[in-house]
Amino acid sequence: MQTHLSKRDQKHIWHPLTQHKLHPEMLGISSAKGAIITDESGREYIDAISSWYTCVYGHCNPAILKAVTAQMQVLDQVVFSGFTHEPAVALSEALIAILPDNQEKLFFSDNGSTATEIGIKMALQYHFNRGERRNVLIAFEEGFHGDTFGAMSVSGLSVYNGPFEELSLQVKRIPVPTKENIHELESLLGRLLQEHAVAGFIYEPLVQGAAGMKTHDADGLNILLKMMKANNVVTIADEVMTGFGKTGTYFASDHLTEKPDIICLSKALTAGLMPMAVTSCTTEVFEAFYSDSIEKGFFHGHTYTANPLACTAALAGIDLLKSPAMQANIQRIMRSHKSFDQELSKNPMVMNTRQIGVIYAFELAVTMERYGDLRDRLFRQFMERGVFLRPLGNILYLLPPYIISDEQLQRVYNSIIEVLEEYQQ
Ligand SMILES: *Cc1c(COP(=O)(O)O)cnc(C)c1O
Repeated sequence: MQTHLSKRDQKHIWHPLTQHKLHPEMLGISSAKGAIITDESGREYIDAISSWYTCVYGHCNPAILKAVTAQMQVLDQVVFSGFTHEPAVALSEALIAILPDNQEKLFFSDNGSTATEIGIKMALQYHFNRGERRNVLIAFEEGFHGDTFGAMSVSGLSVYNGPFEELSLQVKRIPVPTKENIHELESLLGRLLQEHAVAGFIYEPLVQGAAGMKTHDADGLNILLKMMKANNVVTIADEVMTGFGKTGTYFASDHLTEKPDIICLSKALTAGLMPMAVTSCTTEVFEAFYSDSIEKGFFHGHTYTANPLACTAALAGIDLLKSPAMQANIQRIMRSHKSFDQELSKNPMVMNTRQIGVIYAFELAVTMERYGDLRDRLFRQFMERGVFLRPLGNILYLLPPYIISDEQLQRVYNSIIEVLEEYQQ
């Protein structure tokens, strides 16, 4: 796979989440359209994970391109402190209309990690501004909330955090709720809330992406959220991955009766075109900062806050999401996954299949000695079949763009069956 771009790349570029000594070569990608990405030698791959859950309406979607191209002729970028603009105001109206009812205010930034970092800082300062010292956060084991210091502290996947562990915020971790552990979990949480000055609880609602699309129980999560609220703990739903239709509803929080105080959004927010993030909150959170004294304000800001082009992409994305055609696509993929699961879950090589919305995941039943390079091998086996998947150890998951055709989706399923057959032999 040594290609022209790949060679030039190796000279100066340091890639994310990469040990370059083990993985020196990157695949050069030259274009993308709809559900297809094309490499520099012209080979096509179905993007079965929507390029890290971003391009859910398809790559280079014409409606998004048209809106952003028009906006770009009018206003490219302007300071968002002291100034405002139409794309940001229109986006705030469109987002508030689809977010859970209790959300009232939006704070802009530029990626998922800053969205959660801001949520955490809001929760801590909320209590500080009210004259309460609360410095402990609660988070789920195996959660993932990003790579900046606050986000990293609350993330439970320690492979990323090792060198920085001692520099972390104070975090207490709890397991995700199941039907079996809920009573034990209630008493554990009760103790934590009594013994520590808990400021906030951050969670990926119903499905933990980086942990391998692990799903958990909505009733259990509602119970935990109720307990947090009874103790005035600020609840922060990290919907960076789950937002914008992936779980079948606009947001994963729509499946829950207990609504969060703060919601973090990024990834599909801008339909994959531009980096941007939003941290939304309730009036109550906002009011803890609203004051005659300047230092009670939220002194956090990024240079590209609410970039007009990113806001325009997001606004066009929300129009697509709400359209009957896109909603029908989401339902169609949900039905397809469901019938594929009926076949796949009978396969002796497959364990723990799970589905929520357009997200489908399962684990490969392989012995541990084969586990080491399994991820890389699986990745290659799918790429050879023209399907881009990003396995996590022995976990495979699908999160296709909503516009994927039935025929393309069938090719993804067929590639799974074929690859499994190789392991069975
Ligand atoms: C990807 C992700 C983040 C981090 O977003 P970045 O844009 O990569 O910084 C945070 N939380 C969740 C749930 C994510 O999936």
